[in-house]
Amino acid sequence: MNVFSDPAFDGHEQVVFASDPVTGLKTIIAVHNTNLGPSLGGCRMWPYASEQEAIHDVLRLSRGMTYKSALANLPLGGGKSVIIGDPRSQKTPEMFRAMGRAVEQVGGRYIVAEDVGTNPADMEQIASQTKHVGGINDGKDPARTGDPSPFTAYGVFIGLKEAVRFKNGHEDLAGLRVAVQGLGNVGYHLCLMLHAAGARLVVSDLNTDSVNRAVDEFGATPISVDEILYVDADILAPCALGGIVNDRSIDKIRARIIAGAANNQLEADRHGEMLREAGILYAPDYVINAGGVVEVYYCREGRPVSETNRHIEDIGATVREIFERASRQNLSTGFVADRLAEERFGKR
Ligand code: NAD
Repeated sequence: MNVFSDPAFDGHEQVVFASDPVTGLKTIIAVHNTNLGPSLGGCRMWPYASEQEAIHDVLRLSRGMTYKSALANLPLGGGKSVIIGDPRSQKTPEMFRAMGRAVEQVGGRYIVAEDVGTNPADMEQIASQTKHVGGINDGKDPARTGDPSPFTAYGVFIGLKEAVRFKNGHEDLAGLRVAVQGLGNVGYHLCLMLHAAGARLVVSDLNTDSVNRAVDEFGATPISVDEILYVDADILAPCALGGIVNDRSIDKIRARIIAGAANNQLEADRHGEMLREAGILYAPDYVINAGGVVEVYYCREGRPVSETNRHIEDIGATVREIFERASRQNLSTGFVADRLAEERFGKR
């Protein structure tokens, strides 16, 4: 089993393996970097095929949180946790209380939040054992539902408009065609904002109810899941899956801007360079989808939603700096974003 030699290890400060035989908990808590503050990141519960796969995933995700929080100007570092198990059949309240005790033992260097396979009820169990948990909604602010997705969508909307401004010289979305892949929690809220701004929507989802809703509410044009990436549009907003920009797709993408919420849109870093060469402006995913983590932070600090939104609007200035540097230096936006993040968190 490799930890230090895993490609995603990248100088992690701490990796904790914890178990609780009574509840069946097996967890790995990874703290990548705390230069800017305690590490914050979700707890993912997943039936990993092997322990090595779980280790690689937690290291990769935890490192990613360092970069995301640094570019979101949050006083936070990067961390993540995984629980090995099937959330549909193996999850119990007792297991999440044991998880809370494991988080408590890390002594505040790691703050846990929701992720794939975990939900607000699980966080409540964790919160009974430790105060180092984010995303718990105290119900005091009616504008806060506990779901970070609308905030993620708002950040994507800000980043997308900044991309339009950089490409077109103004940020007017009226009449622009935006292809939205995925109409889940984030994609739907993004469509709401794009529609209100006068954009014309082309949409696709595996779920036909979600597509019908977008057609009814926004007058969107539906298109098949096989065609959405390649449709004639000004902007492509991937809000479903990672890896959609790859050797097979790049030549067929007609949009000149890619700005969406999905994590890890580039299959490999070199695809960022290929987008640059193709004249496609790419708003790095982890920069513009940071609205959710900003909200988790403000919610934990007990600060109002109005402050969350003001902070999210800073995404515009950050992504503009990335576009400008990338253009001046003939580098891909993804590469420039990573270097800017490293400057901010002081990578050694
Ligand atoms: P979600 O599960 O609510 O929605 C994803 C949607 O994509 C679903 O409706 C699904 O049917 C659809 N989909 C899946 N495969 C598809 C395909 N091939 N073609 C078209 N549609 C397809 O997820 P979400 O919370 O809306 O998140 C969307 C993306 O944004 C994910 O990649 C997620 O990791 C990322 N993200 C989300 C947040 C957040 O706050 N929710 C924060 C950061 C990043």
